[in-house]
Amino acid sequence: MLELCSVSTNYGVVAMLRDFSLHVKPGELVCVLGPNGAGKTTTFLAIAGLLPLANGRIVITGQDLATMKTESLAGRGIGFVPEGRRLFPELTVRENIWLGFDAARGAGKFDERLEAMATLFPRIKERLRQPAGTLSGGEQAMVALARALVAEPKLVVMDEPSLGLSPKLIDEYFDIVAEINRRGTTVLLIEQNAERALSIAHRGYLLIKGRISASGTAQDLLGNDVVRKLYL
Ligand code: ATP
Repeated sequence: MLELCSVSTNYGVVAMLRDFSLHVKPGELVCVLGPNGAGKTTTFLAIAGLLPLANGRIVITGQDLATMKTESLAGRGIGFVPEGRRLFPELTVRENIWLGFDAARGAGKFDERLEAMATLFPRIKERLRQPAGTLSGGEQAMVALARALVAEPKLVVMDEPSLGLSPKLIDEYFDIVAEINRRGTTVLLIEQNAERALSIAHRGYLLIKGRISASGTAQDLLGNDVVRKLYL
């Protein structure tokens, strides 16, 4: 579904990702963990085609990302949840979710898909006509996820979705992520909250200063000394 092959990126003369390889198979829920400044958002931007690679390649659903435009990724079944949600605050919740449907040229009727999203996210059901900027942080996080999921993507890539959420909301959010994965959506979860991410992931990678420092099953990583020292 997704493969990063020896990816390196630079910010000017500063190297960020170095020789980063990662793969996500169909149906998997894989996490990328890392402390502040490890290169998590850099990884997200590279997968979204928003950052040129200095080296290596990224293959999404069998095609080299270098041959695709960022705006075509939604139509190829890839959903993105960027750090900080990036909703349009003056547009209503419904309109924000519609943008995800329109970008992906979603099949079927939008209202039916919206109803499915409202069932998955009861918190936003009564707020569909409210400007997104007036929602709480937790509700905005749910809208950003609904926008990524509304067109039923094959793969969803998320950048630190738990940032700023209360522990209770993080539980609720991650339960939904685990549920959509059980229903068949492949997930790449880029997260700083290692304990919670590893509780729902099948496998994971630990990124430190732009390099992979450990990888393995969630169980392996929970027992890994570096992960334990950093997080647990
Ligand atoms: P955090 O958890 O704090 O968001 P992160 O793992 O997402 O961290 P990145 O945002 O990928 O980290 O940044 C990795 C490093 O690259 C940081 O040291 C950051 O300062 C640097 N960096 C990010 N964007 C740029 C940029 N546009 N120009 C120069 N350096 C950058």
